[in-house]
Amino acid sequence: MRIMISADMEGATGVTWTSDVVPGTEQWQRFRRLFTGDVNACVAGVFDGGATDVLVNEAHSAQRNLLLEDLDARARMLTGRHKPLSMMQGVDSGVDGVVFLGYHAGAGEDGVLAHTYLENSITGVWLDGVPASEGRLNAAVAAEHGVPVLLVTGDDRTCVDAADYAPAAKLVAVKECVSRYAAICTPPRRTAEQIAEAANAAMALAGRRDPAPAAHRIEVEFDATHLAQAAAVVPTVEQLGPRRVGFDAATMTEAMKAFKVVTAIAAGAVEGIYG
Ligand SMILES: [Zn+2]
Repeated sequence: MRIMISADMEGATGVTWTSDVVPGTEQWQRFRRLFTGDVNACVAGVFDGGATDVLVNEAHSAQRNLLLEDLDARARMLTGRHKPLSMMQGVDSGVDGVVFLGYHAGAGEDGVLAHTYLENSITGVWLDGVPASEGRLNAAVAAEHGVPVLLVTGDDRTCVDAADYAPAAKLVAVKECVSRYAAICTPPRRTAEQIAEAANAAMALAGRRDPAPAAHRIEVEFDATHLAQAAAVVPTVEQLGPRRVGFDAATMTEAMKAFKVVTAIAAGAVEGIYG
């Protein structure tokens, strides 16, 4: 049983603030240890539940946050960028299940450090007409490869979101959202137990299904008009309104590649103070 953990940082134990997740800050140095602790709890849990191989895909920012020297020795870690499948790199390598660890609510939604790909500038993303977090987008990529989502961890809003896009998955809320920058946090000693227990139980869901490739449509709304204009230069991307673009793709993998280009071009078009 081979398991992949897609590990993001905003939904890790204790994280509530920009500096907690921005590389180079003192707060980040502290929280990367807590983030690694959440991952280790998950690795231990899935091995207890029958996993024989675990690949951890670092999925936050420049993807160099987890401490390899502190990682459970039974796991392997994919660190650094650039990866064609991004947060889901490795899902096509024959894994039997994926965990979304440290995930967060989507752009425009209430939730600790809520966003979709860009921390700012994107006010909403829709997958086939449904508001989509990174979790919903990545679950569609997993489904395309026949890989079930076993467990999702993050704040309570992340869990509400996940219950909709991955109804069978186990859920662990490591904190209760109070605002975008505030949460009631459970200490790591307790969240480690909760994550390990849920990861163990979630292994009952592991096992590849039939791959389900399908055409998908993604729409993205920005907080400024020039970002939509910049994104609309991408072939297949159409401007739908002053701040909204959309595109169709034959598969979810193709859709995510196009989404990555759209976000990269928009990020490059953001100007300092006026956005
Ligand atoms: Zn994220």
